[in-house]
Amino acid sequence: MPELPEVQTVVTQLGQKVVGKKIVDFWSGWPKKVMPGMREFREGVCGASIISAKRYGKHIVMELDNDFAIVVHLKMTGHFLYKTPKTKNDPIFTEDRVNGYIHHIFTFSDKTTLEFSDMRKFGWLALIKKGAVEELPAIQALGIDALSPRLTEDMFRTLLSARKTKVVGPVLLEQNLIAGIGNIYRSEALFLAGILPTRKILKITQVEFKELLRAVKKVLREAVRLQGTTDGDFRDLDGQPGRFKKALYVYRRTDEPCKKCGTIIKRAKMAQRSVFFCPTCQR
Ligand SMILES: [Zn+2]
Repeated sequence: MPELPEVQTVVTQLGQKVVGKKIVDFWSGWPKKVMPGMREFREGVCGASIISAKRYGKHIVMELDNDFAIVVHLKMTGHFLYKTPKTKNDPIFTEDRVNGYIHHIFTFSDKTTLEFSDMRKFGWLALIKKGAVEELPAIQALGIDALSPRLTEDMFRTLLSARKTKVVGPVLLEQNLIAGIGNIYRSEALFLAGILPTRKILKITQVEFKELLRAVKKVLREAVRLQGTTDGDFRDLDGQPGRFKKALYVYRRTDEPCKKCGTIIKRAKMAQRSVFFCPTCQR
């Protein structure tokens, strides 16, 4: 499932490839996930130009040069592909199975297309009045973004301390506290900070809070730089998988040796999600 770095990768590339382009057509083979409905969506987007691409948590928001914005959630397997008349038959688009589940297509006036491939079909697109984007319940419910410069050490400690009797592993995934730390990056951040996911928050020292926040930001920034982690279906707009997988220390490395100390990496289930850790490097 795409997390903050993967969504940021998409948003950055949308900024480079489609911002400034005029939409002349929109097609959908899965209108159930086009809101408020196909007719209204088409009427709102056709003839409009995209003027910006932004990320709110894991939501993608593309503002148009009219009163509307397009809000997109990739959910489990959704991803955008950008094709030109020259590249559309490239093997990356035609032979990579993951890039072949095209359910929605925007066509631009220069004949390039932005296509949404989504094997599981949970991803959605919505046309929303510009001013209403920040009032969407899903966006309102988000805590501070993990990469926001406003997220300071003090704020981080205060936010987590509100859950002080809980263990840290599941709390890092609470998007209403801090938005953007998903399953992959919480395991990686806890490893870098040397903290076991089963540690109670009240047992985390001030120095460790500082280390943990630094680890969270470091791992997310590095993943953004490498265009995310492909753990199955994620592809960027060029159809390419993310390159962060090689940099992973613990995520999905059960029974493999720790890259720092050689101890065998372990996996545990916490609140229905797998968490990965090194029993030696983390305490
Ligand atoms: Zn280790």
